[in-house]
Amino acid sequence: MNWAENLQNNLTTAEQLKGVLQLNDKETEKLKQILEQFPMSITQYYLSLIHWEDENDPIRKMCIPSILETDLDGSFDTSGEADNTVVEGMQHKYKQSAMILSTNRCAMYCRHCFRKRLVGLSDKEIAKYFDKIMEYIEGHTEISNVLISGGDAFLNSNEVIEKYLERLSRMEHIDFIRFGTRTPVVLPMRITEDKELLDILQRYSSKKQIYVITHFNHPYEITRESKAAVQALLHVGIPVRNQAVLLKGINDSPKVLGMLLKRLTAAGVLPYYVFQCRPVSGVKNQFQVPLKQGFQIVEEAKGMQNGMGKNFRYVLSHEAGKIEILGMAAEDEMLFKYHQAKKPEDAGRLFTRHLEDTQCWL
Ligand code: SF4
Repeated sequence: MNWAENLQNNLTTAEQLKGVLQLNDKETEKLKQILEQFPMSITQYYLSLIHWEDENDPIRKMCIPSILETDLDGSFDTSGEADNTVVEGMQHKYKQSAMILSTNRCAMYCRHCFRKRLVGLSDKEIAKYFDKIMEYIEGHTEISNVLISGGDAFLNSNEVIEKYLERLSRMEHIDFIRFGTRTPVVLPMRITEDKELLDILQRYSSKKQIYVITHFNHPYEITRESKAAVQALLHVGIPVRNQAVLLKGINDSPKVLGMLLKRLTAAGVLPYYVFQCRPVSGVKNQFQVPLKQGFQIVEEAKGMQNGMGKNFRYVLSHEAGKIEILGMAAEDEMLFKYHQAKKPEDAGRLFTRHLEDTQCWL
């Protein structure tokens, strides 16, 4: 079975989940309503990682909808992505970087997703005009790197992936290309069982540096299969880095987060960012951790790492830029620094903010 056929066995309906969770009719009806707004799709592989005897199992919480998703406090576009769109399907927020929303599909729809407004739903913000996007990048020589994101970039066919690589690798001003994909975590066979994809990546990596940016959040996700996917990428010359999200009930303890970072580093996946969970509708009240508490967790987890494992930043991906959370400057005053700024005058700027104990965002 190839990866696309594999996806056809995904759990996508309330009726299917009813059997798995032994839900009654009322619960199934409620679930149906949630799925109309936020679709569900769970690979058989990811489902097999759940420890069913534990009601609070972290894998379960990341893939199975909860009633808490009906709490729509927050917003759907917390980082102003629509404002940064310069060509339909492409954002240009930071001078050197362009980001392409190449698809609205993912192998699995994470319950904590910050692009809940579009994954599995709307293709309004998705790249449809390939040539227009490429012409924009060709005409903006200040862009030195392109992130092909989504949805999940590896849910594109190999043909589409090659089309991006072929065109981008011809541009002299592009230093490197990144693919944002959670397939190593939720559908590792997309990589390990697709020699054609690996051949394409290897071929183009000799022309342009390619990176895979993935998204492991919990040590349970680091399995024999996911490590094999990472190894396959490393073998064809593609470095793999990880963006985790700090999530209540998933990895909000120094022990769990520390273990995640340590095991990732051992598996050849360098920690890149730990993101503060964004105040997204349907996500905010279920998963956000207060900033002060988040800082303590991240610092303790960092203390368990060697230099390589500490190679990441704890950041907020904010409308104004990527803001690093540096620590307490005084009682109730937190120190922040612009790691990436939307406005040039903010670049590198340090600032402090008074924070309430329960405050999760700026
Ligand atoms: S893989 Fe990424 S884009 Fe897709 S649902 Fe998960 S977090 Fe969202």
